[in-house]
Amino acid sequence: MSHESIIQWTDGTASFFTGCSIKSSACANCYAPPISARLASFGQESYEGVTSKNEKGVLYFNGKIKPNLKAAENVIKVKKPKKIFVNSMSDIWHENAPISYQKKALELMNQYDHHTYLILSKRTENIERILEETGMPLPKNTWIGATVEGDVIDVETKLNVKYRIDHIRNVDEALVRFLSVEPMVGPLHFDDSDLVNVNWIIIGGESGHNARPFHLEWCRNLIENIDDIAQRLNQKIAIFVKQPGRDNFF
Ligand code: SF4
Repeated sequence: MSHESIIQWTDGTASFFTGCSIKSSACANCYAPPISARLASFGQESYEGVTSKNEKGVLYFNGKIKPNLKAAENVIKVKKPKKIFVNSMSDIWHENAPISYQKKALELMNQYDHHTYLILSKRTENIERILEETGMPLPKNTWIGATVEGDVIDVETKLNVKYRIDHIRNVDEALVRFLSVEPMVGPLHFDDSDLVNVNWIIIGGESGHNARPFHLEWCRNLIENIDDIAQRLNQKIAIFVKQPGRDNFF
């Protein structure tokens, strides 16, 4: 459910392609596979084949990626400036996406650069390479984000998910750098160096049918931790606590 709170901050979503795969603990109850399967059953070709069912019958993204350019362009070609969450049904920096998909997505965002684009990812290690290979800049109003759901390990890199913060810090063109601590799956503590140049942090528990527990103490400690760092760094860091999750404990 890791994208939900960001989506509530936006005026719309634009998925330039669909499909993804599990990257870390935050993905366990991803909202997007059931939606994708439903859209595929209604005949939407962009969603066909991107999900599979595990032995318990639970839908998950199987790593296949499908283009969805026309639908995304229809969202972003409107004249009125909007805050648009990018690739809510995928991850724009996914390594399985052909580079041509990412290039076209960046071309379109640069063409319609009157919008603010929120790009949240768990694959921040791919940002630099993809920008280089596409030869495209980020659109001028980009908010770039990383999911940091707890002190947990990324399935692919085998690193603590905090490694992602450095990658978004290194994206010079971004207007805003943000972290999504959602769904918060355990205690989390930042060091001062983690939050240099981070502008905004969202914290939230997990919602939905299989929501994991969320301890308010984790949240309180994290807020204190962030406030202390902000003071020491003399830097403004906005915090938004979106929701305590379905099962919260005092
Ligand atoms: S990265 Fe995002 S879209 Fe992909 S499986 Fe994880 S939660 Fe779902």
